[in-house]
Amino acid sequence: MASRPQSIEGFRSDAKKFLDEFATLRPDGFPDAMFAQFRDIADPEQHARNCRDWQRLLFEHGFAGITWPEDVGGRGLSNAYALAWADLESEYELPRGVFGVTLEMVGPTLLAFGNESQRAHCGAILRGDQVWCQLFSEPGAGSDLAGIATRAVRTETGWRVNGQKVWTSEARHAQYGYLLARTDPDAQRHRGITAFVVDMTAPGVRVRPLRQMTGGSSFSEVFLDDVELPADAVLGEVGGGWTVAMTTLGFERFSSFGRSMGRLMRRAADLPWQEERARNALLDAVIDQRALAAMEEGFQRKFAAGAAPGPEAALAKLATGRVLSELSDALVGALGPRIADPDPEWDDWRLVVLAAPAFHIAGGTDEIVKTMIAERVLGLPKG
Ligand SMILES: Cc1cc2nc3c(=O)[nH]c(=O)nc-3n(C[C@H](O)[C@H](O)[C@H](O)COP(=O)(O)OP(=O)(O)OC[C@H]3O[C@@H](n4cnc5c(N)ncnc54)[C@H](O)[C@@H]3O)c2cc1C
Repeated sequence: MASRPQSIEGFRSDAKKFLDEFATLRPDGFPDAMFAQFRDIADPEQHARNCRDWQRLLFEHGFAGITWPEDVGGRGLSNAYALAWADLESEYELPRGVFGVTLEMVGPTLLAFGNESQRAHCGAILRGDQVWCQLFSEPGAGSDLAGIATRAVRTETGWRVNGQKVWTSEARHAQYGYLLARTDPDAQRHRGITAFVVDMTAPGVRVRPLRQMTGGSSFSEVFLDDVELPADAVLGEVGGGWTVAMTTLGFERFSSFGRSMGRLMRRAADLPWQEERARNALLDAVIDQRALAAMEEGFQRKFAAGAAPGPEAALAKLATGRVLSELSDALVGALGPRIADPDPEWDDWRLVVLAAPAFHIAGGTDEIVKTMIAERVLGLPKG
Protein backbone atom coordinates (compact mmCIF):
# COMPACT_ATOMS: atom_id res chain seq x y z
CA MET A 1 0.00 0.00 0.00
CA ALA A 2 1.26 3.52 -0.77
CA SER A 3 2.70 5.40 2.20
CA ARG A 4 0.66 8.13 3.82
CA PRO A 5 0.98 11.29 1.73
CA GLN A 6 2.36 14.42 3.33
CA SER A 7 -0.08 16.77 1.69
CA ILE A 8 -3.22 16.86 -0.42
CA GLU A 9 -1.07 17.97 -3.37
CA GLY A 10 1.12 14.86 -2.93
CA PHE A 11 -1.96 12.67 -2.66
CA ARG A 12 -3.53 14.23 -5.74
CA SER A 13 -0.37 13.73 -7.74
CA ASP A 14 -0.10 10.04 -6.67
CA ALA A 15 -3.78 9.55 -7.51
CA LYS A 16 -3.39 11.12 -10.94
CA LYS A 17 -0.41 8.89 -11.72
CA PHE A 18 -2.39 5.84 -10.65
CA LEU A 19 -5.46 6.78 -12.70
CA ASP A 20 -3.39 7.66 -15.78
CA GLU A 21 -1.77 4.25 -15.59
CA PHE A 22 -4.86 2.11 -14.97
CA ALA A 23 -7.89 4.01 -16.33
CA THR A 24 -8.84 6.02 -19.43
CA LEU A 25 -9.09 9.79 -19.13
CA ARG A 26 -12.40 10.99 -20.55
CA PRO A 27 -13.06 14.46 -19.10
CA ASP A 28 -16.01 15.10 -21.39
CA GLY A 29 -17.33 11.54 -21.32
CA PHE A 30 -20.83 10.42 -20.40
CA PRO A 31 -21.15 10.62 -16.55
CA ASP A 32 -21.34 6.89 -15.91
CA ALA A 33 -21.06 7.36 -12.14
CA MET A 34 -24.66 8.59 -12.29
CA PHE A 35 -26.09 6.12 -14.77
CA ALA A 36 -24.08 2.87 -14.67
CA GLN A 37 -26.65 1.07 -12.52
CA PHE A 38 -29.42 1.72 -15.07
CA ARG A 39 -27.57 0.38 -18.11
CA ASP A 40 -28.58 -2.77 -19.92
CA ILE A 41 -25.39 -4.75 -19.34
CA ALA A 42 -24.89 -7.74 -21.65
CA ASP A 43 -22.93 -9.80 -19.11
CA PRO A 44 -23.75 -8.68 -15.53
CA GLU A 45 -21.43 -11.32 -14.01
CA GLN A 46 -18.46 -10.10 -16.02
CA HIS A 47 -19.35 -6.51 -15.11
CA ALA A 48 -19.38 -7.44 -11.41
CA ARG A 49 -15.98 -9.14 -11.79
CA ASN A 50 -14.59 -6.00 -13.44
CA CYS A 51 -15.89 -3.88 -10.55
CA ARG A 52 -14.34 -6.28 -8.00
CA ASP A 53 -10.99 -6.24 -9.82
CA TRP A 54 -11.02 -2.45 -9.90
CA GLN A 55 -11.82 -2.27 -6.17
CA ARG A 56 -8.91 -4.64 -5.43
CA LEU A 57 -6.58 -2.51 -7.55
CA LEU A 58 -7.68 0.58 -5.62
CA PHE A 59 -6.92 -1.23 -2.37
CA GLU A 60 -3.51 -2.44 -3.52
CA HIS A 61 -2.53 1.12 -4.47
CA GLY A 62 -3.90 2.79 -1.35
CA PHE A 63 -6.95 4.44 -2.85
CA ALA A 64 -9.67 2.35 -1.19
CA GLY A 65 -11.41 3.46 2.00
CA ILE A 66 -9.71 6.85 1.99
CA THR A 67 -11.57 8.03 5.11
CA TRP A 68 -12.05 4.56 6.69
CA PRO A 69 -9.94 3.72 9.74
CA GLU A 70 -6.55 2.11 9.22
CA ASP A 71 -7.36 -0.87 11.46
CA VAL A 72 -9.87 -2.14 8.85
CA GLY A 73 -7.58 -1.43 5.90
CA GLY A 74 -8.59 2.17 5.16
CA ARG A 75 -6.30 5.18 4.88
CA GLY A 76 -7.66 7.13 7.86
CA LEU A 77 -7.52 10.41 5.90
CA SER A 78 -9.85 13.39 6.08
CA ASN A 79 -12.80 14.32 3.86
CA ALA A 80 -10.55 16.70 1.93
CA TYR A 81 -8.60 13.73 0.55
CA ALA A 82 -11.80 11.86 -0.33
CA LEU A 83 -13.03 14.92 -2.21
CA ALA A 84 -9.73 15.30 -4.05
CA TRP A 85 -10.00 11.65 -5.10
CA ALA A 86 -13.66 11.96 -6.19
CA ASP A 87 -12.83 15.07 -8.16
CA LEU A 88 -10.08 13.33 -10.14
CA GLU A 89 -11.78 9.97 -10.50
CA SER A 90 -14.89 11.49 -12.10
CA GLU A 91 -12.80 12.43 -15.16
CA TYR A 92 -11.89 8.81 -15.94
CA GLU A 93 -13.69 5.88 -17.45
CA LEU A 94 -13.58 2.93 -15.07
CA PRO A 95 -15.81 0.04 -14.01
CA ARG A 96 -18.40 1.42 -11.61
CA GLY A 97 -21.58 0.18 -10.14
CA VAL A 98 -21.80 -2.80 -7.90
CA PHE A 99 -19.96 -1.32 -4.88
CA GLY A 100 -22.08 1.86 -4.55
CA VAL A 101 -24.35 0.80 -1.66
CA THR A 102 -21.57 -1.32 -0.10
CA LEU A 103 -19.08 1.54 0.18
CA GLU A 104 -21.40 4.47 0.79
CA MET A 105 -24.03 2.98 3.09
CA VAL A 106 -23.14 -0.47 4.44
CA GLY A 107 -19.45 0.03 5.24
CA PRO A 108 -19.94 3.20 7.33
CA THR A 109 -22.82 1.45 9.17
CA LEU A 110 -20.64 -1.57 10.02
CA LEU A 111 -17.97 0.82 11.26
CA ALA A 112 -20.49 2.67 13.43
CA PHE A 113 -22.40 -0.31 14.90
CA GLY A 114 -20.56 -3.52 14.05
CA ASN A 115 -19.02 -5.86 16.60
CA GLU A 116 -15.48 -7.06 15.97
CA SER A 117 -16.42 -9.78 13.47
CA GLN A 118 -18.86 -7.48 11.66
CA ARG A 119 -16.22 -4.73 11.39
CA ALA A 120 -13.86 -7.33 9.93
CA HIS A 121 -16.07 -7.42 6.82
CA CYS A 122 -14.86 -3.89 6.06
CA GLY A 123 -11.41 -5.20 5.10
CA ALA A 124 -12.98 -7.73 2.72
CA ILE A 125 -15.13 -4.97 1.22
CA LEU A 126 -12.15 -2.71 0.59
CA ARG A 127 -10.24 -5.57 -1.05
CA GLY A 128 -13.17 -6.09 -3.45
CA ASP A 129 -14.03 -9.51 -1.98
CA GLN A 130 -17.53 -8.67 -0.71
CA VAL A 131 -20.49 -6.89 -2.27
CA TRP A 132 -23.35 -6.11 0.12
CA CYS A 133 -26.95 -5.07 -0.41
CA GLN A 134 -29.36 -3.07 1.72
CA LEU A 135 -32.56 -4.97 2.48
CA PHE A 136 -34.87 -2.16 3.67
CA SER A 137 -37.75 -1.51 1.22
CA GLU A 138 -40.67 -3.91 0.96
CA PRO A 139 -43.69 -4.07 -1.33
CA GLY A 140 -45.76 -2.39 1.42
CA ALA A 141 -43.06 -0.22 3.04
CA GLY A 142 -40.84 2.25 1.19
CA SER A 143 -41.42 5.84 2.30
CA ASP A 144 -43.05 4.44 5.42
CA LEU A 145 -40.03 2.34 6.36
CA ALA A 146 -41.23 1.82 9.93
CA GLY A 147 -44.08 -0.22 8.42
CA ILE A 148 -41.85 -3.16 7.42
CA ALA A 149 -43.52 -6.56 7.79
CA THR A 150 -40.53 -8.92 7.45
CA ARG A 151 -40.38 -10.85 10.74
CA ALA A 152 -37.42 -12.22 12.68
CA VAL A 153 -38.41 -14.62 15.46
CA ARG A 154 -36.06 -15.87 18.18
CA THR A 155 -34.99 -19.53 18.02
CA GLU A 156 -32.75 -21.58 20.31
CA THR A 157 -29.70 -20.70 18.23
CA GLY A 158 -30.56 -17.22 16.98
CA TRP A 159 -33.30 -15.94 14.68
CA ARG A 160 -35.59 -17.19 11.91
CA VAL A 161 -36.54 -14.66 9.23
CA ASN A 162 -39.55 -14.61 6.89
CA GLY A 163 -40.58 -11.85 4.50
CA GLN A 164 -39.97 -10.10 1.22
CA LYS A 165 -37.84 -7.15 0.18
CA VAL A 166 -37.90 -5.23 -3.11
CA TRP A 167 -35.82 -2.65 -5.02
CA THR A 168 -32.70 -4.25 -3.54
CA SER A 169 -29.78 -2.78 -5.51
CA GLU A 170 -27.06 -5.25 -6.51
CA ALA A 171 -28.63 -8.12 -4.54
CA ARG A 172 -27.79 -10.51 -7.38
CA HIS A 173 -24.05 -9.88 -6.81
CA ALA A 174 -24.16 -9.60 -3.02
CA GLN A 175 -22.52 -12.06 -0.63
CA TYR A 176 -24.07 -10.29 2.39
CA GLY A 177 -27.14 -8.22 3.11
CA TYR A 178 -27.91 -5.60 5.75
CA LEU A 179 -31.49 -6.39 6.74
CA LEU A 180 -34.19 -4.61 8.72
CA ALA A 181 -36.77 -6.96 10.26
CA ARG A 182 -39.53 -6.66 12.86
CA THR A 183 -38.57 -8.47 16.03
CA ASP A 184 -41.28 -7.19 18.37
CA PRO A 185 -44.70 -6.72 16.75
CA ASP A 186 -46.16 -5.49 20.06
CA ALA A 187 -43.65 -2.67 20.56
CA GLN A 188 -44.19 0.86 19.27
CA ARG A 189 -43.44 0.35 15.56
CA HIS A 190 -40.07 2.19 15.43
CA ARG A 191 -38.87 0.27 18.49
CA GLY A 192 -39.81 -3.22 17.32
CA ILE A 193 -37.24 -3.30 14.51
CA THR A 194 -33.77 -4.90 14.56
CA ALA A 195 -30.91 -4.72 12.03
CA PHE A 196 -29.18 -7.96 10.99
CA VAL A 197 -26.30 -9.19 8.85
CA VAL A 198 -27.55 -11.87 6.42
CA ASP A 199 -25.43 -14.32 4.47
CA MET A 200 -27.08 -14.06 1.04
CA THR A 201 -26.02 -17.65 0.22
CA ALA A 202 -27.90 -19.05 3.26
CA PRO A 203 -30.74 -21.55 2.60
CA GLY A 204 -34.08 -19.74 2.18
CA VAL A 205 -32.66 -16.58 0.55
CA ARG A 206 -33.91 -16.22 -3.03
CA VAL A 207 -32.98 -13.31 -5.28
CA ARG A 208 -35.06 -12.50 -8.35
CA PRO A 209 -33.63 -9.69 -10.53
CA LEU A 210 -36.18 -7.18 -11.86
CA ARG A 211 -36.03 -5.64 -15.33
CA GLN A 212 -36.13 -1.84 -15.23
CA MET A 213 -37.57 0.29 -18.01
CA THR A 214 -34.03 1.47 -18.80
CA GLY A 215 -33.19 -2.14 -19.77
CA GLY A 216 -30.91 -2.61 -16.75
CA SER A 217 -31.57 -5.04 -13.94
CA SER A 218 -29.61 -3.78 -10.95
CA PHE A 219 -32.57 -4.21 -8.57
CA SER A 220 -34.03 -7.45 -7.30
CA GLU A 221 -36.83 -8.83 -5.25
CA VAL A 222 -35.43 -10.80 -2.32
CA PHE A 223 -37.51 -13.55 -0.70
CA LEU A 224 -36.59 -14.74 2.80
CA ASP A 225 -38.20 -18.05 3.69
CA ASP A 226 -37.31 -19.54 7.09
CA VAL A 227 -33.80 -18.10 6.90
CA GLU A 228 -31.83 -19.09 10.03
CA LEU A 229 -29.50 -16.43 11.43
CA PRO A 230 -27.01 -16.92 14.26
CA ALA A 231 -27.51 -14.88 17.44
CA ASP A 232 -24.52 -12.68 16.63
CA ALA A 233 -26.07 -11.61 13.30
CA VAL A 234 -27.70 -8.69 15.14
CA LEU A 235 -26.20 -5.36 14.10
CA GLY A 236 -26.43 -2.90 17.01
CA GLU A 237 -29.04 -3.63 19.69
CA VAL A 238 -32.09 -5.89 19.52
CA GLY A 239 -34.95 -3.40 19.01
CA GLY A 240 -32.43 -0.71 17.99
CA GLY A 241 -32.77 -1.19 14.22
CA TRP A 242 -34.44 2.17 13.66
CA THR A 243 -31.43 4.01 15.08
CA VAL A 244 -29.08 1.92 12.92
CA ALA A 245 -31.19 2.57 9.79
CA MET A 246 -31.47 6.31 10.40
CA THR A 247 -27.70 6.52 10.84
CA THR A 248 -27.26 4.73 7.50
CA LEU A 249 -29.67 7.07 5.74
CA GLY A 250 -27.73 9.99 7.22
CA PHE A 251 -24.61 8.89 5.33
CA GLU A 252 -25.74 10.96 2.37
CA ARG A 253 -22.51 11.62 0.64
CA PHE A 254 -21.54 14.99 -0.69
CA SER A 255 -22.87 14.95 -4.22
CA SER A 256 -21.05 16.18 -7.29
CA PHE A 257 -23.79 15.43 -9.75
CA GLY A 258 -24.14 19.13 -10.62
CA ARG A 259 -20.72 19.14 -12.23
CA SER A 260 -21.19 15.73 -13.84
CA MET A 261 -24.36 17.03 -15.41
CA GLY A 262 -22.32 19.93 -16.83
CA ARG A 263 -20.70 17.32 -19.06
CA LEU A 264 -24.12 16.08 -20.13
CA MET A 265 -25.19 19.63 -21.00
CA ARG A 266 -22.06 20.19 -23.11
CA ARG A 267 -22.70 16.98 -25.01
CA ALA A 268 -26.40 17.81 -25.39
CA ALA A 269 -25.51 21.18 -26.96
CA ASP A 270 -24.45 19.30 -30.13
CA LEU A 271 -27.94 17.86 -30.69
CA PRO A 272 -30.41 19.48 -33.12
CA TRP A 273 -32.21 22.25 -31.15
CA GLN A 274 -34.36 23.83 -33.92
CA GLU A 275 -37.57 23.38 -31.94
CA GLU A 276 -38.02 26.51 -29.78
CA ARG A 277 -39.77 24.94 -26.81
CA ALA A 278 -37.15 22.22 -26.55
CA ARG A 279 -34.35 24.81 -26.83
CA ASN A 280 -35.87 26.85 -23.99
CA ALA A 281 -36.23 23.70 -21.87
CA LEU A 282 -32.53 22.97 -22.42
CA LEU A 283 -31.64 26.52 -21.34
CA ASP A 284 -33.67 26.07 -18.13
CA ALA A 285 -31.81 22.82 -17.48
CA VAL A 286 -28.41 24.47 -18.08
CA ILE A 287 -29.21 27.39 -15.74
CA ASP A 288 -30.36 25.04 -12.96
CA GLN A 289 -27.39 22.72 -13.51
CA ARG A 290 -24.97 25.64 -13.10
CA ALA A 291 -26.74 26.80 -9.94
CA LEU A 292 -26.53 23.26 -8.54
CA ALA A 293 -22.84 22.92 -9.41
CA ALA A 294 -22.10 26.24 -7.66
CA MET A 295 -24.15 25.20 -4.61
CA GLU A 296 -22.29 21.87 -4.42
CA GLU A 297 -18.94 23.59 -4.63
CA GLY A 298 -19.83 25.62 -1.53
CA PHE A 299 -20.99 22.50 0.34
CA GLN A 300 -17.84 20.65 -0.60
CA ARG A 301 -15.61 23.43 0.71
CA LYS A 302 -17.37 23.11 4.09
CA PHE A 303 -17.18 19.32 3.98
CA ALA A 304 -13.45 19.40 3.13
CA ALA A 305 -12.92 21.67 6.13
CA GLY A 306 -14.39 18.92 8.34
CA ALA A 307 -18.07 19.93 8.65
CA ALA A 308 -20.60 17.05 8.62
CA PRO A 309 -22.99 17.05 5.66
CA GLY A 310 -26.22 18.67 6.83
CA PRO A 311 -29.49 19.40 5.04
CA GLU A 312 -27.40 20.43 2.03
CA ALA A 313 -27.33 16.83 0.83
CA ALA A 314 -31.15 16.81 0.71
CA LEU A 315 -31.26 20.09 -1.23
CA ALA A 316 -28.70 18.84 -3.75
CA LYS A 317 -30.67 15.61 -4.17
CA LEU A 318 -33.89 17.50 -4.97
CA ALA A 319 -32.07 19.76 -7.40
CA THR A 320 -30.39 16.82 -9.17
CA GLY A 321 -33.76 15.21 -9.93
CA ARG A 322 -35.12 18.52 -11.16
CA VAL A 323 -32.20 19.25 -13.52
CA LEU A 324 -32.34 15.74 -14.97
CA SER A 325 -36.09 15.93 -15.57
CA GLU A 326 -35.70 19.33 -17.25
CA LEU A 327 -32.99 17.88 -19.50
CA SER A 328 -35.13 14.82 -20.16
CA ASP A 329 -38.09 17.00 -21.27
CA ALA A 330 -35.78 19.00 -23.51
CA LEU A 331 -34.34 15.84 -25.07
CA VAL A 332 -37.75 14.38 -25.81
CA GLY A 333 -38.76 17.69 -27.46
CA ALA A 334 -35.59 17.87 -29.55
CA LEU A 335 -35.28 14.24 -30.59
CA GLY A 336 -38.95 13.27 -30.82
CA PRO A 337 -39.44 9.65 -31.97
CA ARG A 338 -35.66 9.23 -32.41
CA ILE A 339 -35.43 8.77 -28.63
CA ALA A 340 -37.10 5.37 -29.13
CA ASP A 341 -34.93 4.50 -32.15
CA PRO A 342 -32.81 1.37 -31.51
CA ASP A 343 -29.85 3.12 -33.23
CA PRO A 344 -27.00 3.10 -30.65
CA GLU A 345 -26.42 6.79 -31.43
CA TRP A 346 -29.34 7.63 -29.14
CA ASP A 347 -28.61 5.06 -26.41
CA ASP A 348 -27.09 7.49 -23.90
CA TRP A 349 -29.89 10.05 -24.35
CA ARG A 350 -32.57 7.38 -24.02
CA LEU A 351 -30.85 6.27 -20.82
CA VAL A 352 -30.98 9.82 -19.42
CA VAL A 353 -34.71 10.10 -20.22
CA LEU A 354 -35.61 6.70 -18.78
CA ALA A 355 -33.40 6.96 -15.67
CA ALA A 356 -34.45 10.51 -14.70
CA PRO A 357 -37.53 9.44 -12.66
CA ALA A 358 -35.36 7.24 -10.42
CA PHE A 359 -33.54 10.32 -9.15
CA HIS A 360 -36.85 11.53 -7.66
CA ILE A 361 -37.33 8.22 -5.80
CA ALA A 362 -34.01 6.64 -4.71
CA GLY A 363 -32.92 7.38 -1.15
CA GLY A 364 -36.33 8.92 -0.30
CA THR A 365 -38.86 10.42 -2.72
CA ASP A 366 -39.03 14.17 -3.39
CA GLU A 367 -42.19 14.45 -1.26
CA ILE A 368 -40.53 12.76 1.72
CA VAL A 369 -37.36 14.84 1.35
CA LYS A 370 -39.40 18.06 1.16
CA THR A 371 -41.30 17.10 4.31
CA MET A 372 -38.00 16.35 6.06
CA ILE A 373 -36.60 19.76 5.03
CA ALA A 374 -39.81 21.51 6.13
CA GLU A 375 -39.84 19.87 9.56
CA ARG A 376 -36.17 19.45 10.45
CA VAL A 377 -34.52 22.33 8.61
CA LEU A 378 -37.18 25.04 8.47
CA GLY A 379 -38.77 24.00 11.78
CA LEU A 380 -42.32 24.04 10.36
CA PRO A 381 -45.00 22.24 12.39
CA LYS A 382 -45.46 18.51 11.68
CA GLY A 383 -48.29 17.77 9.24
C1 LIG B 1 -32.38 3.78 -7.97
C2 LIG B 1 -33.02 3.20 -6.72
C3 LIG B 1 -32.26 2.41 -5.88
C4 LIG B 1 -32.85 1.85 -4.72
N1 LIG B 1 -32.10 1.00 -3.94
C5 LIG B 1 -32.65 0.46 -2.83
C6 LIG B 1 -31.90 -0.46 -2.04
O1 LIG B 1 -30.76 -0.83 -2.36
N2 LIG B 1 -32.47 -0.98 -0.92
C7 LIG B 1 -33.73 -0.63 -0.53
O2 LIG B 1 -34.17 -1.11 0.51
N3 LIG B 1 -34.49 0.21 -1.29
C8 LIG B 1 -33.98 0.76 -2.42
N4 LIG B 1 -34.73 1.61 -3.21
C9 LIG B 1 -36.12 1.86 -2.83
C10 LIG B 1 -36.42 3.29 -2.36
O3 LIG B 1 -35.86 3.52 -1.10
C11 LIG B 1 -37.96 3.42 -2.34
O4 LIG B 1 -38.40 3.29 -3.67
C12 LIG B 1 -38.42 4.77 -1.81
O5 LIG B 1 -38.12 4.89 -0.44
C13 LIG B 1 -39.93 4.98 -2.05
O6 LIG B 1 -40.66 3.90 -1.59
P1 LIG B 1 -41.78 3.19 -2.49
O7 LIG B 1 -41.16 2.89 -3.81
O8 LIG B 1 -42.35 2.08 -1.72
O9 LIG B 1 -42.88 4.31 -2.77
P2 LIG B 1 -44.12 4.73 -1.78
O10 LIG B 1 -43.55 4.88 -0.43
O11 LIG B 1 -45.17 3.68 -2.00
O12 LIG B 1 -44.52 6.09 -2.39
C14 LIG B 1 -45.40 6.22 -3.52
C15 LIG B 1 -45.69 7.70 -3.71
O13 LIG B 1 -46.39 8.22 -2.57
C16 LIG B 1 -45.69 9.33 -2.04
N5 LIG B 1 -45.77 9.34 -0.57
C17 LIG B 1 -45.64 8.26 0.26
N6 LIG B 1 -45.75 8.65 1.56
C18 LIG B 1 -45.94 9.99 1.54
C19 LIG B 1 -46.09 10.99 2.56
N7 LIG B 1 -46.08 10.66 3.86
N8 LIG B 1 -46.24 12.28 2.18
C20 LIG B 1 -46.25 12.63 0.85
N9 LIG B 1 -46.11 11.73 -0.16
C21 LIG B 1 -45.95 10.44 0.18
C22 LIG B 1 -44.24 9.15 -2.47
O14 LIG B 1 -43.53 10.39 -2.49
C23 LIG B 1 -44.42 8.54 -3.87
O15 LIG B 1 -44.65 9.56 -4.80
C24 LIG B 1 -34.20 2.14 -4.39
C25 LIG B 1 -34.96 2.93 -5.26
C26 LIG B 1 -34.40 3.45 -6.42
C27 LIG B 1 -35.24 4.27 -7.35
